[in-house]
Amino acid sequence: MNYKNLIENTQKVPYERKIFVNHPVVMDKIYYVGFDLDWTLADYSRNKVWQLIFNLATDYLIDHLGYPKKLKTLITYNPKIIHRGLIIDTLRGILLKVNAYRYVGKALKGEKELPQEEKDRIYHTYPLDVTAKNFYWLDTIFELPEANLYSELVTISNRDNISLPTCNFRKIFEDVRKAVDSTHANGSLHNNILSNIEVMIPKDSLLETAIKRLILHPGRKLFVLTNSYVYYTLAVLEYLFGSNWSNYFSLIVCQADKPKFFKNKEPFIEVDKNGREIRKTGTPEWGKIYKGGNFTGLMQLFNTSGDRVLYVGDHIYGDILRVKLASTWNTLLIIKELEEELKIILQEYSEFVRMVELRKELVSIRMEYDNELDNTGTVKSKTAILYKELRNRVKSVEKELQSKLNPYWGSLFKIGSTRTLFAQQVENFASLYTSRVSNLAYYGSRHFFTIPIDPMKHELEILI
Ligand SMILES: [Mg+2]
Repeated sequence: MNYKNLIENTQKVPYERKIFVNHPVVMDKIYYVGFDLDWTLADYSRNKVWQLIFNLATDYLIDHLGYPKKLKTLITYNPKIIHRGLIIDTLRGILLKVNAYRYVGKALKGEKELPQEEKDRIYHTYPLDVTAKNFYWLDTIFELPEANLYSELVTISNRDNISLPTCNFRKIFEDVRKAVDSTHANGSLHNNILSNIEVMIPKDSLLETAIKRLILHPGRKLFVLTNSYVYYTLAVLEYLFGSNWSNYFSLIVCQADKPKFFKNKEPFIEVDKNGREIRKTGTPEWGKIYKGGNFTGLMQLFNTSGDRVLYVGDHIYGDILRVKLASTWNTLLIIKELEEELKIILQEYSEFVRMVELRKELVSIRMEYDNELDNTGTVKSKTAILYKELRNRVKSVEKELQSKLNPYWGSLFKIGSTRTLFAQQVENFASLYTSRVSNLAYYGSRHFFTIPIDPMKHELEILI
């Protein structure tokens, strides 16, 4: 292997393509690297695939669930109205952005923001019980088009010029879920993608380099662990890595039923390249293709401790949170949106710094309030006016910056200055996170992903 070729053009990592560390991972000690397929190895063209899902699900609603034909002219595909980590209140047809303390920071019904009073009345007495039946969490970017479709149906449900089979928001949600599930079950989504694969999965020139660099470590093996069908997984691997994909990946497990895979006792069913079943086994073997299976059997094959494994996936719940709770595997979360957010933050860097400075100023004026009381106990009008002006400036800078990130929701990771629930999960459960698998190309096969300091709040001003 020509090592020099591999590290060419990967000497300096662009900031937006860095791999960020929550918990240290010593790659030298990682002998098994597993990959999810969809939205991980297969880095789909989001807009193309989202629009396809949106259209196929709309067709299903019309053809099978009694929605009117003119639906297509009344709803609009608008991916910006949704982003990962939102929670849908299916009872009320409302989209929620929630912070790490389960406080609802923003609520939209259709495209309209819920008035503060209504938001307070519905959501601000108890912390949001995100596990309650009526809440649906958008864990992965795959689910965004169905949330877009749902939001559109909620918006038009009360219009006079259309009669939907139901105006019950929960029932509409169930119909949308059924429609989206059908695009998987009947193969229409996958067949559409495969028939137009070069457009649906644009090739990333560094992906193969990343994979090659990983296997520079002698004794390291790579595997694929995906919920996708066998025929689809093999077709995508062949497209991405050519017919010699098995030189890179030593084991393929499809239809794994993650996250149940980590608790299941299902056997591994060995299949050939056409998906024909060969035999069942409790422990898989290298060089083979399986469907089903379970975590215990896989660890018997690895015959080592879980901390020698790194698993790479895009699903915060199925690939990362459940994996961390059920095993000692290290995890690398792929957050595609991170790259765009970081690019905007870098472009607007001076404005972001200004926003932080303004927030600090705001706090210092408040500190002075008691010194500024007049003899009636009221803050002197000059100070109060100054405070109000500054607060308005902070709000306007915040609004402008957030709308650059997403006009409806702002940053994926922040509500004001606090972390979102999604950001907290990233921090708690992803050992590492980055925007694409190919970013691994910038790091050596034995890189030490570490953090020089992991400050608590009381250390911030002293140590950084
Ligand atoms: Mg995936």
